[in-house]
Amino acid sequence: MSPGMAYFDNAATTMTLPEVAEEMRPYFTEMYGNPSSLHEMGAEAAAAVRTARKRMADAFGCYPSEVYFTAGGTEADNMAILGTLPDGGGRIVTSAIEHSAVLETCGEVRRRGGSSTVIPVDGEGFIDLSALDSAMGDDVYLVSVMAANNVIGTIEDIRECARIAHEHGALFHTDAVQGFTKMDIDVRRDGIDMLSVSGHKIHGPKGIGALYVRTGTPIRPIVFGGGQEGGLRSSTENVPGIVGIGKAAEIAMSNMGRDMRRMTEVRDRIIDSVLDLPGAGLNGPGSHRLCNNAHFRFDGVRGNSLVLALSRKGVAASTASACSAGDTEPSHVLSAIGLSPAESLSALRVTISHMTTDREVDLLLDALPGALRESRV
Ligand code: PLP
Repeated sequence: MSPGMAYFDNAATTMTLPEVAEEMRPYFTEMYGNPSSLHEMGAEAAAAVRTARKRMADAFGCYPSEVYFTAGGTEADNMAILGTLPDGGGRIVTSAIEHSAVLETCGEVRRRGGSSTVIPVDGEGFIDLSALDSAMGDDVYLVSVMAANNVIGTIEDIRECARIAHEHGALFHTDAVQGFTKMDIDVRRDGIDMLSVSGHKIHGPKGIGALYVRTGTPIRPIVFGGGQEGGLRSSTENVPGIVGIGKAAEIAMSNMGRDMRRMTEVRDRIIDSVLDLPGAGLNGPGSHRLCNNAHFRFDGVRGNSLVLALSRKGVAASTASACSAGDTEPSHVLSAIGLSPAESLSALRVTISHMTTDREVDLLLDALPGALRESRV
């Protein structure tokens, strides 16, 4: 169990595994060379970055030369969307339930002379594929649809989205920050041109991410400088972070089958027990749902108060996403699946990891009835 609290906020961030932190440690203290330096210490750091790039490539199913390290999932999304925007503009097509790292960047596309089309989702969060198809046109340069949703855990049919994008001559990007290592993704098989991931969602460190870019994709840098990362992402490499995300990805991929089975079991136990409580409902899909996500609404309850009441009882959870924690506005994801403002504001997101223990689940289920009583509106 996580030290301190029973932890059910793994979609916000995860614990860095001790073996990941251990692998990173020497790159802070002894092997702190700059990978661009010619001397031995530089070569040592460059070798560590190479190893990590190979690990990411193995996890994505691509060549190491197609992996670019970034400062996180947000930056990877920005690079994909703004880096492929043609001179003079173009249209991006995306879904209504994307993370703000994509939706806000679409705002920047518009400010730079481009335009955007937002495709609706159904009541379980699945993108309307025929609306996607109808929205396509010659002016669309990019379709960006997330692999899995960070609030309600919906796993999108990204293969079909990629097919539709390509049929109309557009590129396809997916924000796989939540899905990576928790669903089956293969960039070649799935026809993905660009894919974003983040270290801190896969038991690696914060402040590091990666963008897969298929060879031949017309992408330009959005940050300029010393030309690191093949000129696409200048700035001295975050060597400890890169080592960390590479190790975390390697561990997660090698245990993926076992971990997904364990998380699915724990998730379903939580869903079954919570739905027995009066006034409880499940948000998001019944199938094609991330193995670590459960998302609920409770009649007559204020979600923010519920999260605080649970916290007082030693349980860490959230309402929608970490970025929106504390918001008094309904989550755009919950509005997009058709929930009323009152329903949206009564939400509780429970996200587990492969390390979630039965004892933590017991603590959550014991704490919930009292916490619900304390947070009635
Ligand atoms: N995309 C999704 C779906 C996310 O859930 C998150 C993090 O919450 C991000 C992007 C941003 O990733 P990062 O925190 O690494 O910038």
